[in-house]
Amino acid sequence: MRYLSTRAAADTLPSTFSDILLGGLAPDGGLYLPQTYPQINADTLAQWRQLLDDEGYPALAARVLSLFIDDIPAGDLAEICERAYRTPAFATPEIVPVTDLGNGLWLSHLSEGPTAAFKDMAMQLLGELFEYELRRRDDWLTIVGATSGDTGSAAEYALRGRPGVSVVMLTPRGRMTPFQRAQMFSLLDDNIVNVAVDGVFDDCQDLVKALNMDADFKAAWHIGAVNSINWARLLAQVVYYVATWIRVSAQYARTYGGNAAEQRVSVCVPSGNFGNVCAAHIARSMGVPLDTLIVATNENDVLDEFFTTGVYRVRSAENTLATSSPSMDISKASNFERFIHDVLGGDKARVAELFGERLDEYGTFDLSASPFFAQMRTRWGMVSGRSTHANRLAEIRRTATENGYVLDPHTADGMHVARQWLDHLDGPIVVMETALPVKFAQTVVEATGQLPPTPERFQGIEALPQKVVDLPNDLAALQALIQDTIRRP
Ligand SMILES: *Cc1c(COP(=O)(O)O)cnc(C)c1O
Repeated sequence: MRYLSTRAAADTLPSTFSDILLGGLAPDGGLYLPQTYPQINADTLAQWRQLLDDEGYPALAARVLSLFIDDIPAGDLAEICERAYRTPAFATPEIVPVTDLGNGLWLSHLSEGPTAAFKDMAMQLLGELFEYELRRRDDWLTIVGATSGDTGSAAEYALRGRPGVSVVMLTPRGRMTPFQRAQMFSLLDDNIVNVAVDGVFDDCQDLVKALNMDADFKAAWHIGAVNSINWARLLAQVVYYVATWIRVSAQYARTYGGNAAEQRVSVCVPSGNFGNVCAAHIARSMGVPLDTLIVATNENDVLDEFFTTGVYRVRSAENTLATSSPSMDISKASNFERFIHDVLGGDKARVAELFGERLDEYGTFDLSASPFFAQMRTRWGMVSGRSTHANRLAEIRRTATENGYVLDPHTADGMHVARQWLDHLDGPIVVMETALPVKFAQTVVEATGQLPPTPERFQGIEALPQKVVDLPNDLAALQALIQDTIRRP
């Protein structure tokens, strides 16, 4: 299995998995994809079902990943998955349990990991893969990132205490929830440096960008990233769509009759950067019997606009709203290019044209007249919907009352959109739960008047000692901080 950028020129040599693991964007500005998706059939699915039942989630993960990774020996890959997906880091040995809420609506619980957000599913694997690869190369890395909450904490929990990796995470001072602050700042590991920048999230992101522009500094400190376009993160997410289909189809057949092997299942995905739903698209492209993929957005509806009109219109930072489902507040969906690449039949020159300088310049492209767009539902199985603050609150209340389950605001966006498609699709719709409500308590209180439940593993977290460095919004200060605190091996 070899990988090429979505914008690769015809004469580009493909890369191995290990080569693209530690990098971000391809040198041509595109995103890496395998040259083809491995194809599975009913026999493969039957074997995977047996494997998940007999040996559990890590064994399934190793098997699925091995189709995409041929430069890590199978035994090592199995150990990597065992360490990535285990209790007590995850609250349950199933890792990704599913729940039948009734009326055709289901939940797939992606938030049982150490930071209660679905980012853990990818980051926990990435942490193991990074450690493995750095040891193999006798190399080291300084991960520098900016976070408004979910990504940064998932990265820190995945990389804490690992030899060869340090993490410097910039946060906007005073702008995260008390729970998010406690989660990150209570990590006292030597290799974790939490930074509170005097500014907003965009300032943090600009600082990281500026740091990466200084090529000499970047090389000297082995500066790297764990951003949402990393291929290994997507790959980790493909696994839970396989597991979700296996578990929902089995439980559905047991409860309502029918043959599990033939049961098609639709999924509804609360989306921002299109990373989560892109993994569903890849699983579906391999032959996992996912029916329709529903893209749910909040008020920042770049993606819903595309799937309803065929026009992709990137927003500016000023036109990106701060909503009560903040992890979906994006102006440009960084993984969307991968999907469009596939829709265009892998026409890399066309992708380069659509997503290259022209997109930066005009911030928009229009596929409404394209025959590909006409097939969006029939051939690609994609539909969408959007949700607002009022929808979100109503949905949290409704699911709590009718189904006895408290949703987080992001999952509530997904549930709101899923309900709108219930009458138009056959079979169950599984809403992917992207966070637990404890992370966004204030919005849950606004919706229900009650604090959401605090899972046992998070009790007392806000009382733990915290470690954080204050920093002015200034590149030289950030560079000095890295020089003073990171120990080169
Ligand atoms: C990151 C995140 C999302 C959006 O996921 P994408 O892969 O960017 O589409 C949705 N909900 C929560 C809670 C998140 O942390």
